[in-house]
Amino acid sequence: MNIINYRNLKPYNTFGINVDAKRFVEVASLAEIQEVREYLRLHPQNFLVLGGGSNVLFTKDFDGLVIRINLSGIEITGEDKYHVYIKAAAGEEWDGFVEYCTDFGFAGIENLSLIPGCVGASPIQNIGAYGVEMKDHFHSLEYFDLSEGTVRTMLRGNCRFGYRDSIFKHELKAGGIILSVTFRLDKLPVFRTNYGALKDELDRMGISGVTIQKTREAVIAVRHSKLPDPAVVGNAGSFFKNPAVSKERHDQLKSLFPQLVSFPQPDDTYKLAAGWLIEQCGWKGRRIGDAGVHEKQALVLVNYGNAKGAEITDLARQIQISVKEKFSVDLEKEVNIL
Ligand SMILES: Cc1cc2nc3c(=O)[nH]c(=O)nc-3n(C[C@H](O)[C@H](O)[C@H](O)COP(=O)(O)OP(=O)(O)OC[C@H]3O[C@@H](n4cnc5c(N)ncnc54)[C@H](O)[C@@H]3O)c2cc1C
Repeated sequence: MNIINYRNLKPYNTFGINVDAKRFVEVASLAEIQEVREYLRLHPQNFLVLGGGSNVLFTKDFDGLVIRINLSGIEITGEDKYHVYIKAAAGEEWDGFVEYCTDFGFAGIENLSLIPGCVGASPIQNIGAYGVEMKDHFHSLEYFDLSEGTVRTMLRGNCRFGYRDSIFKHELKAGGIILSVTFRLDKLPVFRTNYGALKDELDRMGISGVTIQKTREAVIAVRHSKLPDPAVVGNAGSFFKNPAVSKERHDQLKSLFPQLVSFPQPDDTYKLAAGWLIEQCGWKGRRIGDAGVHEKQALVLVNYGNAKGAEITDLARQIQISVKEKFSVDLEKEVNIL
């Protein structure tokens, strides 16, 4: 275990925010994680578990220990007539894992192609895209409980997955480290390609018979066309969640704003497209200093170079106020503010 003092975190967060961690350690095995636990017991301090840093916004230097997860390995742990069970270590790059599954013809997570970050973070906010959520193919995970010093297995039913939500954002927030995630993938694909932009892209590609591989290619093409590449301009994807409102509230809004973009939910609520709400308030493409709203997707806030985290959160606050004034709707942040 090699604890480094004052590590610059700019390369470790996709927003590209220039802050330091007071201490920084990379862990690649359970033994190293146990050493880190012992270190924290002897030297109590704040700590932060970090994967790819693609869902965090640092607003100041981190006054504690950043634990960067580098656990690696993918293995097939079982199968039955219809499914295959694949376990991936927390530090595996998410899209590399999706590619691995797609190449082997294991179906289910191809719609989640090109989401940045690591496997270990995927359950935290139950990542989702193009009509699929990670929970749809989640089987279980292994979790190192930092207070007990033990490894626990958690099944799907214990994780309380919701829209960009799980128990790891609540009771188990900062309580431990996800070590690996096991997915249950389909041998016989069920394609979910009705989602607007994905369907259009498959049509454009002139695909007659959809395959897992083609779905992945289409998702990648759509994402490249709509989302900024963090390697080019700093961002953390969607900054806000799509807000959910009651049917009654939805119908009121729809009568006031007939163009309202919304999606009915199974529980009779409606999800409103936060990007559309933000765009209607005139924020799309606007820039204040180096903090801005992406020109193609108003839900994505960007760092054009040297923005400070606080400048991004100020911008976010102004957007929340505008949306509240115009639509009486509260926007909740999706990104973890640190
Ligand atoms: C361009 C772009 C597009 C995106 N598109 C999507 C999208 O379509 N859908 C979507 O859902 N998200 C999307 N995201 C957000 C992000 O990619 C995901 O939330 C991803 O799962 C974050 O992974 P990470 O490894 O970078 O997590 P980090 O940012 O490193 O961490 C996120 C949170 O998880 C915790 N954490 C990380 N690893 C562990 C672990 N092993 N154990 C315990 N806690 C841990 C951290 O402490 C932090 O609270 C996008 C981001 C970008 C930049």
